[in-house]
Amino acid sequence: MKKLHRIAIVGGGAGGLALATALGHRLGRKGLARITLVDAGLTHIWKPLLHEVAAGTINSFEDELNYFAHSAKNHFEFQLGRLDGIDRENKTLHLAPLTSENGEMIADARSVAYDTLVLAIGSTSNDFGTQGARDNCIFLDSRPQADRFHKKFLDMYLQAHALPEDAPVRPELNIAIVGAGATGVELAAELHHASHEFVQYGLDEIDPHHVNITLIEAAPRILPVLPEAASLAAHAQLEKIGIHVLTGQLVTNITPDGLHTKDGLFVPASLKVWSAGIKAPDFLKDIAGLETNRINQIVVTPTLQTTRDDNIFAFGDCASCQLPGMERPLPPRAQTAHQQAKYLVKAMVARLEKRPLPAFEYRDYGSLISLSSANTVGSLTGNINIQGRIARLMYLSLYRMHQVSLHGFFKTFVLWCKDMLSKTSGPTLKLH
Ligand SMILES: Cc1cc2nc3c(=O)[nH]c(=O)nc-3n(C[C@H](O)[C@H](O)[C@H](O)COP(=O)(O)OP(=O)(O)OC[C@H]3O[C@@H](n4cnc5c(N)ncnc54)[C@H](O)[C@@H]3O)c2cc1C
Repeated sequence: MKKLHRIAIVGGGAGGLALATALGHRLGRKGLARITLVDAGLTHIWKPLLHEVAAGTINSFEDELNYFAHSAKNHFEFQLGRLDGIDRENKTLHLAPLTSENGEMIADARSVAYDTLVLAIGSTSNDFGTQGARDNCIFLDSRPQADRFHKKFLDMYLQAHALPEDAPVRPELNIAIVGAGATGVELAAELHHASHEFVQYGLDEIDPHHVNITLIEAAPRILPVLPEAASLAAHAQLEKIGIHVLTGQLVTNITPDGLHTKDGLFVPASLKVWSAGIKAPDFLKDIAGLETNRINQIVVTPTLQTTRDDNIFAFGDCASCQLPGMERPLPPRAQTAHQQAKYLVKAMVARLEKRPLPAFEYRDYGSLISLSSANTVGSLTGNINIQGRIARLMYLSLYRMHQVSLHGFFKTFVLWCKDMLSKTSGPTLKLH
């Protein structure tokens, strides 16, 4: 019997899960290849939703997808495990021992054999070694971290609710967010929105005007990847809703009480979030002799193959891909991962048929930033600035497009209807 070509995809995020699903249908269903997806978690949630998970404005339990259930329906296999090494000579990847939340052993270290390996393990926040950042800030790299933030945020309201009615001082809440890229800006706006929502549910001891949100950015302006006009519009909108924006301030030290900047400012904060910069996970640095850059991303060619091994591909946030004629590598964004996943489906089919791989072509559709209920701003291809309802609709359609790549149009429509129904029947804020 002919041995099936084994394609192992590590990382079931914005890019990896879409790729595994499409390859399952294209190759797995017809018995043309064996597709295995490996992820460190049991469930997937689209990473650009994490700031909403943190604020509680979406319920992460409703929006998550179980890998085992999804793989069974979509003709690929799922392995729960955390990649910790690659043996290129024997074409195997190593998975770390699997332990439960309580630290009990579930499975020993294992290996998975591959003919083609695709790495899509995303990125983590880069604290640039800032003193106190690891110990005192929450990062928004994963669902458990976003849940942890939400729990702390909610606890502050529960604490205030438990105060005696005649308490002498009205409580206030100081939140500081380091980094005014898309994550920081969207989180600030979402927390502002959530602070007003709490009042609807009787948790009104913390007046929304006493929720002080400070966004701190080292660059001269917020959202440096957007054209200046869009960035200024977002800045003005944030200040209008009462968010304190500090630009040109480099955070140098973070303590349990707040943040110190290079210019000598101190920003008091009980809740602190680090969202400045990204890097690929540290264990990727020079992994198996592959070429990596200074932020641990694996360097790939325009066919998304690693520079030192044609059998290994990498894409999404964990890869550095500079296409001919471009001044810098592609941005670490969901739209990059999405376009690369689509390209890799064609590339994998070509590889199996022993045809030359087409080159990946990237199209920048622009960037949209959600300022929660206040507005959506951004720029489209050709530096066209956009805001308001149309921008909001386009922003929301990004998640729906991801759902279409996983479930097809019909189920995405059903999910959209379900979301609309639960918004009208249930609380608009997660209160547990
Ligand atoms: C709060 C927030 C808001 C954002 N908003 C936007 C936006 O509006 N627009 C936009 O374009 N981008 C946005 N982004 C960026 C976007 O989320 C990422 O660019 C995108 O998710 C990258 O996709 P990926 O497939 O490379 O990685 P991810 O989606 O991060 O997926 C990585 C997967 O790999 C798994 N994994 C990690 N390590 C291992 C390991 N060792 N072994 C096995 N599995 C592993 C993880 O569990 C995860 O499932 C946002 C990011 C954040 C955090």
